[in-house]
Amino acid sequence: MSNDDLSDGAVGTVIRPGDPEWESARRFHSGIGSPAAVIRAATVDDVRGALRYASAERLDVMIRGGGHSAWGGVPGGLTLDISALDDIEVDGTRVRLGGGALWGPVAHVLAERGLGISSGDTASVGVGGLTLGGGIGWMVRAWGLACDQLVGAQLVTARGDVLEVTDASHPELLWALRGGGGNFGVVTRFDFEAHALDGVVHAVYGLDGDARPILRVLRDLLAQAPRELTVTYMDVPAMDPNAPAGATITAVWAGTDEDAARAALAPLAAAGVSELEFGVQAYPDVLLEAPEFDPEQPMPGFVGGNTLLRDLDDDAIDRLVTFREQNPASVAFLRSLGGAFGDVSQGDSAFPSRDASWFAMAGAFDIPGMLDDDARAAAESAWAAIEAKGTGVYGNFVPSTDDTFAERIYSPETMARLSAVKRQWDPGNVFCRNHNIKPGPDGHPV
Ligand SMILES: Cc1cc2nc3c(=O)[nH]c(=O)nc-3n(C[C@H](O)[C@H](O)[C@H](O)COP(=O)(O)OP(=O)(O)OC[C@H]3O[C@@H](n4cnc5c(N)ncnc54)[C@H](O)[C@@H]3O)c2cc1C
Repeated sequence: MSNDDLSDGAVGTVIRPGDPEWESARRFHSGIGSPAAVIRAATVDDVRGALRYASAERLDVMIRGGGHSAWGGVPGGLTLDISALDDIEVDGTRVRLGGGALWGPVAHVLAERGLGISSGDTASVGVGGLTLGGGIGWMVRAWGLACDQLVGAQLVTARGDVLEVTDASHPELLWALRGGGGNFGVVTRFDFEAHALDGVVHAVYGLDGDARPILRVLRDLLAQAPRELTVTYMDVPAMDPNAPAGATITAVWAGTDEDAARAALAPLAAAGVSELEFGVQAYPDVLLEAPEFDPEQPMPGFVGGNTLLRDLDDDAIDRLVTFREQNPASVAFLRSLGGAFGDVSQGDSAFPSRDASWFAMAGAFDIPGMLDDDARAAAESAWAAIEAKGTGVYGNFVPSTDDTFAERIYSPETMARLSAVKRQWDPGNVFCRNHNIKPGPDGHPV
């Protein structure tokens, strides 16, 4: 089928292997894809046309917003690139974002108006993938996940219908969009309710010695801290200029009250960390830039995972630090949850484990010459012991494209609800390049 054959409407720009723009069109954040075709859609009608094209050509659809997920690397199918749908419209505190908008530009536009939305920590990540999977960011304890601020959406279904989704019109569908991923259609517009924000206090601390006692202090202070405070611990090898090698704790206070932030962080400062930064910044300025993808250095495998922890006990801290010590090419992260994240009842969004107080992630890079079979097996078992302490997995940080992984993310109850929504809006599983909810009963294939 060619563009000309799609006589009943627009389709966007169809790019196939051999076309001049093919090389740029198949690139995503961390790789070079090999889809059957890419369609760049700039309007809702283009999206509808692209879905007709996919149906006529019998192609699975991979929706590309910010392009940061691993699904861009799954061969075949149609990549539906909606990055041109990047409008940012602000009306009071109601914010309408195109389905392909990126969080960095959104944060800039909102900051000019004294507003903010809790997003992630990186400017180039897409509003679409991050929000539909949940979205853990610097304001997660103050305002919840990105998806908790979602109040409506415009969605193009697999049949090409355009829905205005609200809690009043399609409550189950909106519930599913809050954490259920890109399973239900192409979101061409996200409607958020933003918060007043005149800036944030941003603090970075360096850890030189044993991180274990410091992390105990951090855990204990977070148990008492005001919800304005969100922290991340990370210990990484030299990767890029944004992520200096070594162990650091970054704290963000939602607001500009430096005294309150200092008071909340006082036990940490007294625990022997070195203060590398402390001061008020505009929220967009604390968002990181993602490292550029280098095709000469494709992403290595990742032996590890992530887990949502109800409690961060001493043993979990010890195991996480030991994991990092035993694997020179590895990363370890902790991110605080609780606060507004925990105010949302489990049944009110599709996101797992609302009772979690911490998010933990660790992994060893599977680089030839760096990780032999014994070291790989040791890393797997060390991670399994940490994961066993958790109550759920956060899908957005799972690089696996195994299409059964969703069963590990969602509880049986959530999966049953999600698959009922899937059956209604995408019974043919056109949107399957994601943590896939199958349309059959309880999330099984039909
Ligand atoms: C450098 C980096 C930093 C990150 N930081 C964070 C962080 O701080 N917090 C956090 O929670 N996550 C973070 N993530 C994970 C991130 O949330 C996921 O990778 C997410 O899927 C990226 O969304 P995207 O739109 O950029 O990716 P894409 O690959 O474009 O999309 C991912 C999936 O989302 C779906 N999708 C995207 N847009 C739409 C749409 N408009 N309609 C329907 N479906 C859609 C599709 O199923 C698609 O397969 C980070 C990832 C990277 C690489």
